This record gives sequence, C-alpha cells and structure tokens, in this order.
Amino acid sequence: MSVPENGPDGTDIHARDRAFMVARHLEARGIVDPYVLTAMGKVPREAFVATPLSEFAYEDSALPIEAGQTISQPYIVARMIELAEIRPGDKVLEVGSGSGYAAAVMGAIASHVYAIERHEELAERARTREHRLGYRNVEIICGDGTKGLPGEAPFDAIVVSAGGPKMPEALKRQLAIGGRLVIPVGPSVHQTLMLVRRTGEDTFVQEDHGAVTFVPLIGEGGWAAPETAAKESGIDAETSGFAHGLHGPARRAKISRSVPSHAIAGAAEPFGDLNELAALTERFADRRVVLLGEATHGTAEFYDARARITETLVRKHGFNIVAVEADWPDATVYDAFARGLPRPSVPESAFSRFPVWMWRNAQVGNFLQRLQAINERIADPAQRAGFYGLDVYSLSTSISAVLDYLDRVDTEAARIARERYGCLAPFRAEPARYGRMALSRGYAMCEKPVTDTLVDLLRRRLGYLVRDGSAFFDAEQNARIVATAEQYYRIMYYGTAQSWNLRDQHMFDTLERIIDHRGPGSKAVVWAHNSHIGSAEFTEMGQVRGEHNIGQLARVRFGEDCALIGFGTDRGTVAAASNWDEPMEIKRVQPARDDSFEGYSREAGIDAFFLETGPGQKRSVRDALAEPQLERAIGVIYRPDTELLSHYFQAELSKQFDAWIWFTETQAVAARPQSHPHGPDETYPFGL
Ligand code: SAM
Repeated sequence: MSVPENGPDGTDIHARDRAFMVARHLEARGIVDPYVLTAMGKVPREAFVATPLSEFAYEDSALPIEAGQTISQPYIVARMIELAEIRPGDKVLEVGSGSGYAAAVMGAIASHVYAIERHEELAERARTREHRLGYRNVEIICGDGTKGLPGEAPFDAIVVSAGGPKMPEALKRQLAIGGRLVIPVGPSVHQTLMLVRRTGEDTFVQEDHGAVTFVPLIGEGGWAAPETAAKESGIDAETSGFAHGLHGPARRAKISRSVPSHAIAGAAEPFGDLNELAALTERFADRRVVLLGEATHGTAEFYDARARITETLVRKHGFNIVAVEADWPDATVYDAFARGLPRPSVPESAFSRFPVWMWRNAQVGNFLQRLQAINERIADPAQRAGFYGLDVYSLSTSISAVLDYLDRVDTEAARIARERYGCLAPFRAEPARYGRMALSRGYAMCEKPVTDTLVDLLRRRLGYLVRDGSAFFDAEQNARIVATAEQYYRIMYYGTAQSWNLRDQHMFDTLERIIDHRGPGSKAVVWAHNSHIGSAEFTEMGQVRGEHNIGQLARVRFGEDCALIGFGTDRGTVAAASNWDEPMEIKRVQPARDDSFEGYSREAGIDAFFLETGPGQKRSVRDALAEPQLERAIGVIYRPDTELLSHYFQAELSKQFDAWIWFTETQAVAARPQSHPHGPDETYPFGL
C-alpha cells in the first residue's frame, strides 16, 4: 500500500497532477460543486492504489484493487458526490467502499461517513488507509450494504458504488426526509445512474442521470454471488474485470465481440507479401500526403511494410518527401545518403540518442539503400526523394547546426547567436533540467535569446538564400527546433497535453514547410506512431485528454487529399526498453485482449490483411468499427505487467484511420550497434 509521496523538502509531489486532474477531468467535464472540487483536489488518490499503479492515479480511469475490484474513475466519483449534494454537517452512507477513496473524498466534506464493503480484505485495507491518512470521521464496516445500516439511519446522503438490478428498498427507507440516494440501477452490464430524493415519509422523486457501467452490487438487495450471477446472465465470470472508462468494457465486449470481427473478416483484403500490400495501398497514390502509422516503435514488419509502400509511391507516383518521427539533424545524414548529397558536418553521428534502435536498424538501412537506388535514376539531386525528420528533441545538435551554418555565411551573426544560445549551454546535455529551472524561477530565461536568433535569421533570409537555398532551409529549421524545444522543455511540467500538442503541432508545421520547400508538385509520405497518425479526435487522446496530433491536423489542412493508415499486431516480439534511457530489450508482445480492435482483427482469422476503413468502405463495416473499443499502443517503452493501463486506450477505428494494416504475428527490428558518439560512423551512415 502506498502513502502520499513527499519530495525531499516535504512538498506533495502529486499536488500538480491532482490539480491537473481537477481542472481537466472534472471541471472541464462539467463538475461545478466547489465542495467536490476542493475535496478531490486534496485527497491523495495515489494512496488508495498499489504502488506500481500510483503513476496512473490521476488519469481518468478506474484502476484495479485487490479482490478483483476497482477504484472508480475520478470523474464518476465526482459526479456521484455532486449529485448526492454532500455538505458539511451531513451524515453519509457509502455502499461499496472498495479502496476507501470515495469515502475519504466524502469524509473531506461531510461530518461523518459510514462505508460498507462486502470483502473483508478490502474493508481492512481501507480502514488502515483512512486511519493513516487521518480521516477519523470515516468508518469502514464489512457487510452487505444493500441492507444499509439501520442502526445509524437516517442518512442525509447514500452513495452506492456498485450496480444493482433494482433499487434496494432498505436504502430508500434509511434516507432522511430531503435525503439523496445515488445508485446505478439496471441489467448486469449497463446501468442508469439514478438520483432518488426523499420528499416525505412515503414520497420519493427519481431522476435519471445517464448510462454507466459498474461492477455488480452483490447481496440481498442486489445480484446473487458471482458464480450464480455469471451462470444466469450468460456472462463469463473470468471476463469480468476492470478497464478504462467507467467499469468493465470487457463484459460489454463479450456481447458485441463478433460484430467487429465479422465485419473485418468480410471486408479485409489479405496479402501474401509486401509487394501485394504496396499494390493494395496504391489506391491512395493520388493523395498529396499518405501517413503511415505503427503500433510499436520496434516491429520489423511495420518498418518493412512502410518501406515497400513508400518505395512504390516514390517510384511510380511521384512522392518526393519521406518525413519521419525522428530528429531533423540526424535525418539530414540519411537524406544525404539517399539523395547522393555531401554529408553534413553536423551531426557527427546520426541517431545515437535513446531510443537508438528506432532509426538505427537493419530495416531502415535496407530502405535507405533501396531509396538511394530509386533516386539514382533521377538526374537532378534536387528532384530526388528526400528523408526528413519532424521531431523536436535535437536541442543540442540543432544549436550546433545553426552555429555551424552561420560560421560559414555570416561570422558576426554567428558571434551573436553563440552568445544568445549560451543561455541554454548548461542544459544541452539534459534539457529537461532547463524546464525544472524555468519552473522554479518562474520565468522563461532563454525564450527571448532563442526567438531573437530565429527572428534575425528570418530577417536576413533573402541575403542568405542567394548563397544556398537548401542550406538556409536546414539552418532555419534548426533554429525553429531550438525555439520549440526551449518551449517544450519548459511546458512539459504543466501536463502532458500541452507538451504533446506543442510537439505534434511542430511536427505538422515542419511537414507543411517541407512540402512548400519542395514545391507545388511535391507529395509526402509520413512515418510516425499510430498515436500521431490516427486522428486524435476519435480517440481517448482528443476526447478525454485534449490532445491533437499530426493526423488530425492533416485532415483539417488537406481534407480528402490525405490518407491516414494505421497498423496493428496481435503477438510476437518487439524492441523496447522498460524505462526511458534504459537499454533496449527484445520483449515478448502479449496476445492482444479479446475486447480490443487487435483482438477482433486476430479473431477474423487472416494472417495479414489490408482493410479500408474510410469513406471507400461499405457503411456497415465502417459502422461496426466506429464503436469505441480498446486499441493497443506500444512506444519505445513496453510494460507488459501493466499492459491495460500503460498501453490500451479507447478509439473509434474507422474514424481514426482511412485504412488498417494487420500482421497477426510480428518480430522485433534488427537493431544496429550504436556508433561512437564523438566520431564518424564506422560504416556511414547506419552502421551496416
Ligand atoms: N468507491 C470505491 C473506491 O473509491 O475505491 C470503489 C467501489 S468498487 C467500484 C465497488 C465495490 O462494491 C467493490 O469493492 C465491491 O466489493 C463492493 N460491493 C459490491 N456489492 C456490495 C455490497 N452488497 N455491499 C458492500 N459492498 C459491495
């Protein structure tokens, strides 16, 4: 069990996350009761979950606790307490205290809270927690809460945190006149959140507050014990688990499972090899931008498939930009190789920063060689397909690249820029430190010097352009990266959505600049993770966290002139680390959950397929894949132990993507050794 964590100076290290949760997940979604907002801003949710889950404590999701139960999603806790109108001085009853979190929140408002839990183990743990945290007015009792607590009645408010088939009469009768009962009622899978107000000795008024999904209320006034209930309702007892959203989509999925997998099986276009896949993808060759995702950052099939599709688009359809989720200066080394240009002097070694395997692997090496061969048939190097990085993480290399350029074209400007960038010098090796420093000082120390450098560069654009347009374009992009990175590391402590949005906006703006730079006929292929490519508008990222991404921005800018293509896999191996900056491991990818788009794709029974999900597809198929379901995202970190929480999110697949490419079984990329950070690559450019 965890207790609230304090920093070395005694500060509450979760205070910022808690404030973010209150603002983003409660206030922004319509919770207005100041008592609820204040109480939820105070009670340490991380102390009510097992330590490994504390990092997820302030996400808006239910989390697993002991005895196969859940701690409710923060939003639903807030909503129920708001409906119960709990006020100082109230006597409150909670049925289903679970971890004790909701009881503690109510205890922070009311005068006394009685909370009943049917599992002795949970009741005992909750009791210890309340005591340790000092909630002396919260009393945890083990028993069947459907009978209420007649000896302590009447109650000003009763909150039931589990879903029953009907309203327990005993609870209504234990309300004070004017008292409120909030309870999910309905069939086992979905319930309606009901508010009952006792208006007189025998009079009650009921309000319906929408659909919810809760774990079952088990007892005399609720469902029978699990085994019996499972048999009666036809629900497989072992699928009843916790999940995202409210509670238990696993059960919901059991009922609807066959619909998406039948739709997939009927509409999927199987392919036997990557040439067949590339041919299937040519239906999007008339688009200005084709965006190719990946479900992990370390799967060979995703790289190879994107490579073959891209080669076809370049060779046959005039695509001349390959823009990838990688650092700009490093990508210029690969670009020079692919286009037969002189090797840039900065950086000395490409892609030597974590996660090295993402771009320094055999799949990328093979692709660049084939791209070079395709390019060789085009006489003018300026017309050849280029390889560009879209990302923001190259603060130090980008500073070097700007200075290197200015040293060559304008020594006085170089002197001034060197002085200005000096502000960031102490942080070049570890830019996150700059963010912490700016945060503690309360102002952005280096914002002005880095923007001044960019503005000066742009002001002198015409003079610089006449010397060498491409070199200027490169320097300008590096100066933009320094400016964005300064902002990125500064705001990264204000919550993930802000820094995510800044980064994706930067990546999209960079894509647009490359397209403009390559001229009116230019066409681009983008390679980035599904989470950047699939429109965030139709996933939990946009709908819950307020994040946008490249795919969403591309749809706004290019409309039907872009195609968003996602990738998925069921099982196999993947190259990933356990934590940031830790060594790469070859990890086993667990078979996907049954109730995920990956589970449905596996169930379709086709080894590898292409599935159009956009407007070109039949309405019935699109509809079957438009229901929110879980989807898996593995990045450079893979944590199988907490897979559901770390890697699954809700998405509406047929709206998120225009097509979905599936490989049932996949293998890790073949990573290449890291080159010496201070010397030239032994075998330029990718250590093959
Ligand atoms: N409010 C809790 C929290 O903050 O952690 C979450 C409650 S959890 C969703 C529902 C709980 O209701 C489970 O712990 C379950 O064991 C309990 N429960 C189900 N039926 C019950 C009953 N008849 N009496 C008491 N507890 C019950």
